[in-house]
Amino acid sequence: MRQVIEEIDRRGCKFVDLKVVDLYGRWRHVTLHRESFSEEIFEKGVGFDASNLGYASVTKSDMILIPDARTLFFEKIENEEIASFICDVYSSENFKPSEHDPRFIFKKAIEYISPIADDIKLSIEYEFHVFSRVRYSIQPNLIFLETDSPEGFWNSSQSGEYFVGRKKGYHREIPFDNFMHLRNAIVSELENVGVSVKYHHHEVGSSQLEIETNFESALKAADWVMLVKHVVRKIAKQSGFLVTFMPKPLYNEAGNGMHIHQYMIKDGKNIFSGDELHGLSKTCHQYMTGLLKHCPAVMAFSNPTTNSYRRLVPGFEAPTNASFGLANRNAAVRIPGYVKDHSEKRIEFRTIDASCNPYLAISAMILAGVDGIKKKMKAEESSELSLPIDLSKACDALEEDREFLKEIFPDSLIQHWVQTKREEYRYISSIPHPAEYDLYFDV
Ligand code: GLU
Ligand code: MG
Ligand code: MG
Repeated sequence: MRQVIEEIDRRGCKFVDLKVVDLYGRWRHVTLHRESFSEEIFEKGVGFDASNLGYASVTKSDMILIPDARTLFFEKIENEEIASFICDVYSSENFKPSEHDPRFIFKKAIEYISPIADDIKLSIEYEFHVFSRVRYSIQPNLIFLETDSPEGFWNSSQSGEYFVGRKKGYHREIPFDNFMHLRNAIVSELENVGVSVKYHHHEVGSSQLEIETNFESALKAADWVMLVKHVVRKIAKQSGFLVTFMPKPLYNEAGNGMHIHQYMIKDGKNIFSGDELHGLSKTCHQYMTGLLKHCPAVMAFSNPTTNSYRRLVPGFEAPTNASFGLANRNAAVRIPGYVKDHSEKRIEFRTIDASCNPYLAISAMILAGVDGIKKKMKAEESSELSLPIDLSKACDALEEDREFLKEIFPDSLIQHWVQTKREEYRYISSIPHPAEYDLYFDV
């Protein structure tokens, strides 16, 4: 701890920021002046009201934030160098980790795989849209939404700019790619805060971009999800843009996924590589089967918004089948066709999107796969499954199929989750949809 504090002082930081994930996957923060930050905080923590963060009842809402010293990173906010930590949440009553803290749940899930593997390595793809302006208002009978893309087929208001046509943006080169400088700036900042980036490129949609991070240990990779979204938004805003990771911000345009490439390691070896179909091991096939079999229930966490299901439709390279396939982009699990090296053999979970809480979603994904390994599942067991068509169906699936989560996810959390998600579903369903005027105005 001493070294950590020395490093903060060496950098001349006047402020130390404590970040914590809320139940729905947003970072919240509290900032301490350096004078109020001491080594003691790593043991005693800082009190906060957890009821606003979704994972504590209002009557027992006093909780404690404990910074994880290993997560220290530095960033500039305006011209001020800030030291930041990601925190764990402890109960103020017994000073134990809070059962509902998503990061605690994640650590338990990783521990749970220990008889099978030492770790699971993750490499994550982030897709997002860039806008210059977003305005919306919801009144009882009127939804008004105005979005301006700085480039794009559907936006003709920008003059003197090249643009890419609908679905024509994939890997486009400058000057059609209007955002190379923005991605360069984002990736430079990601490297500054310790996130290792594989590459970045323009995505299929107009004003749709992608950044992919390198393989990393599970907990660090999950922390990176939070960090990547933070940095992408921060740098975009500095450049005068707004960014959204919403799964389907625009009708009839590509949506935003957050695909997760993954393989397990034991004694330093990739145990997903083997001699079975597609150069994968039996363990990997069992994992894949477990993941597909439980996919509908996992989706209540990995695709937890009403908007998530607008993305999972044919025609946009988003998954629509609960199946696996070699180089198949419509399948929930893809086996990348270009990977020949054994140490790199992996699978890609494509259903998941960035509207999730990464700790909960990735935990559920891993536990689904591990259940497949534990029960030695065979591929037939996951055939003929279809993906839920909306959030309410995903909630049904989770309620029916939650056994595989039970060692790690408290029952009370699942109940609370389903209740909140059903409320969101009912709220959205209760609003007259603009397209209903098209279909039904003249009935
Ligand atoms: N944007 C697609 C999705 O919604 C994925 C495109 C790709 O394969 O990179 O999942
Ligand atoms: Mg992509
Ligand atoms: Mg992908």
